[in-house]
Amino acid sequence: MGKIILTGDRPTGRLHVGHYVGSLRRRVELQNSGQFEKVFIMIADAQALTDNIENPEKVRQNIVEVALDYLSCGLDPAKSTLFIQSQIPELCELTFYYMDLVTVSRLQRNPTVKSEIQMRNFEASIPVGFFTYPISQAADITAFKATTVPVGEDQLPMIEQTREIVRKFNSVYDEVLVEPEVLLPENQACMRLPGIDGKAKMSKSLGNCIYLSDTAEEVKKKVMGMYTDPTHIQVSDPGHIEGNTVFTYLDAFCKDEHFERYLPDYSNLDELKAHYQRGGLGDVKVKRFLNSVLDETLEPIRARRKEFEKDIPEVYRILKEGSEKAREVAAQTLSEVKDAMKINYFSDEELIRTQSEKYGK
Ligand code: ATP
Ligand code: MG
Repeated sequence: MGKIILTGDRPTGRLHVGHYVGSLRRRVELQNSGQFEKVFIMIADAQALTDNIENPEKVRQNIVEVALDYLSCGLDPAKSTLFIQSQIPELCELTFYYMDLVTVSRLQRNPTVKSEIQMRNFEASIPVGFFTYPISQAADITAFKATTVPVGEDQLPMIEQTREIVRKFNSVYDEVLVEPEVLLPENQACMRLPGIDGKAKMSKSLGNCIYLSDTAEEVKKKVMGMYTDPTHIQVSDPGHIEGNTVFTYLDAFCKDEHFERYLPDYSNLDELKAHYQRGGLGDVKVKRFLNSVLDETLEPIRARRKEFEKDIPEVYRILKEGSEKAREVAAQTLSEVKDAMKINYFSDEELIRTQSEKYGK
């Protein structure tokens, strides 16, 4: 069987450069690599509602924003199926059955859920739907028999949980589900890009993002205000690279060729880092360089977005068509799951026959 990708994003805001380096850039490469039989990209609106129940309008508005970000980054509906989670009711059914395969204490131990509960101040009032979203994520992945899930590092515990559910299901019932592999970014900085405030993760919910759709002026303002090394006060002071967000972003975005174009005094990032650590290199110069690198990366994305923004009904049409296609695939898996679980009463002639025999007919 060919390899299949499933991945996605929550429509809780426009997509940011953390998504780009953590997953989006890779997805486009994989989509175009020809190595995958199918690519499914999901807008996880039902998951977004689990912690935005007071805010349905936010989720609703951001569906088209996320879709525009996808298209402008190069996800191509002719090669990838772009769909909306809530439009596939089969995913809810799978989730419900998988719930029997997971314990409450296992969910409580999930480190991503733990830190997200903390981040959202949910401690005493966790919605059950939010608490169980790793199970629903397992349904999303397995419904498409995904072999490969390209995501950022925060998703590792989710994929592990999915793998456990698959193993349990296949051993209790029948070999129906496929155990997915996670595909993390190669570069450490891309696994979990920090926010512009230096916080551990750039996240829509934390408001510390550079969005793919930000204007060049907005990006420049954010870059110039970015968190660096608080001990680097005078230009002549030696500076630190670790925990210095500007350098982390350079690790994620910059290539040697950028130096030729924007900072020819250095030939690569190692030289720039060494100078900063020695002292004598000011933050403003490094930030200006980062801004040029980001601008070069984001400009073509912005330009493509402008084109797609001209025909919003077409974006919805793409999502509708993708959702219909995705639903067919999920329905097929659900039917296999129900067969394996023996809850296929009306299509099981053997069952009807043996029950009849029991009553002597
Ligand atoms: P929310 O705050 O609503 O959870 P988010 O910014 O965390 O939003 P998600 O939609 O949860 O975004 O994540 C979508 C994908 O992007 C996941 O694969 C996730 O690992 C990846 N991702 C999100 N933020 C980052 C980041 N800062 N660095 C690398 N990858 C990221
Ligand atoms: Mg998230």
